[in-house]
Amino acid sequence: MIQDLGNSVFNNQFANRREAKADDFVFAFNLHKEVLIKEVVTDNDPVILPKAKLFEKTSLIYLFSIDDKAYFLSQEAKLLPGFAYKSVQILRKDNPRVTSFALATAFHLFTWYQKTQYCGACASKLVPSTQERAMICPHCGQIYYPTIAPAIIVAITDGDKVVVTTYKDRVYRGVALIAGFCEIGESAEATAKREAFEEVGLKIKDLKYFGSQPWGLDSNLLVGYMATVDGDTTIKRDENELAQAQWMSRDELAPIESDISLTKTMLKYFKEHGNDL
Ligand SMILES: [Zn+2]
Repeated sequence: MIQDLGNSVFNNQFANRREAKADDFVFAFNLHKEVLIKEVVTDNDPVILPKAKLFEKTSLIYLFSIDDKAYFLSQEAKLLPGFAYKSVQILRKDNPRVTSFALATAFHLFTWYQKTQYCGACASKLVPSTQERAMICPHCGQIYYPTIAPAIIVAITDGDKVVVTTYKDRVYRGVALIAGFCEIGESAEATAKREAFEEVGLKIKDLKYFGSQPWGLDSNLLVGYMATVDGDTTIKRDENELAQAQWMSRDELAPIESDISLTKTMLKYFKEHGNDL
């Protein structure tokens, strides 16, 4: 999954922050969900980030480190010769995993900083905490921590079949599993059951935890389950949300090459092992 970095080590401890060195990396995003990367000739060229030496040090916010490189956020959507803004969806390409993970995580933090500029209680301008990753209201003392939206993904299975879907109006066009945000007051399991019923009209049982994944493009922490259909197997598709929903056998599932997302990791697992965790 996106957080599996091989031998590389991700360090997001606030105490680990430091000033930018010339060869550290910088993420500059604009408000169209685009990131500044070196101009590419073909779509297959790898993503290359600008280095810190191209930016004013004081305009950079420390984000995290991976191995000996630190990653910073530019506070402005700067333009640099030889660089261009491209959709953050490029992280789905076959980049070095470290680059894709860093991009998703930096975008999550960018989204939070972007939305956390003024106090929701008294409307004063917030200032960054010097102690931890938080924004503080100097007027009323309110503290704002980074927000993460928990969401579930569930593979509904029936023997060697699984329910796969495609979304109607999303940027992501590939196959998907049943997924949705946890609502206030719900457990992750209750969300999975509700979403299964809302999206495809199926009841589910025997939920088994598969794994979890941070997905910074949507500020998520995704929690994955395998489940068994409970009773009637007739799919009643939510036509507002889904373009397609169908049962597919392990043999019918196309080979899954990328394991960048939790969905793909789960589909790959199901194709190879079935619902047997
Ligand atoms: Zn306030």
